[in-house]
Amino acid sequence: MDEKLRLQDLDLLFKEEVAREPGCQHLLRCFSCGACTAACPVSEIEPGFSPSLIIRQILYGLRRPLLSSPALWYCARCARCSFQCPQDVRFLDIIQGLRQIAIREGLISAARAALLEKGEGLIQELRARLINRILADPSGNTDPQEILSLLIKEMDKI
Ligand code: SF4
Ligand code: SF4
Repeated sequence: MDEKLRLQDLDLLFKEEVAREPGCQHLLRCFSCGACTAACPVSEIEPGFSPSLIIRQILYGLRRPLLSSPALWYCARCARCSFQCPQDVRFLDIIQGLRQIAIREGLISAARAALLEKGEGLIQELRARLINRILADPSGNTDPQEILSLLIKEMDKI
């Protein structure tokens, strides 16, 4: 994200715009406790991604840099953040709302957004297959990395 932000670049109406997206009406309830980020499996492996930071960026009006950020597409939609939030802010809906605004604004094309969705679907399928293979192995010694390589090759043929 651009570090040289000027006051006049801030969009103070951005939070209202996001709050109008479906399911995002509780955005202003956020009190920055950080429980969403602590529960997020993506934040654990990608320190640049933080649900609570994204909420702060919305509240500060960092519209353009946030809507252009690849971080919008990192969320794996597991909903853990929504379950943990003491304020029922529903971050999962908020990230979806931000994605929709970014598409409407032309900051990402609908075709590219569809490719990202497809990629996410493939990852979920790969994960499910990996879990099933590990659970089905009577030896209990499955090497996840080896199985993963085999599954990727198998999925190549789909
Ligand atoms: S858990 Fe809820 S209240 Fe706490 S930072 Fe996240 S969105 Fe805000
Ligand atoms: S829904 Fe997205 S932001 Fe929320 S915990 Fe899951 S990966 Fe993280």
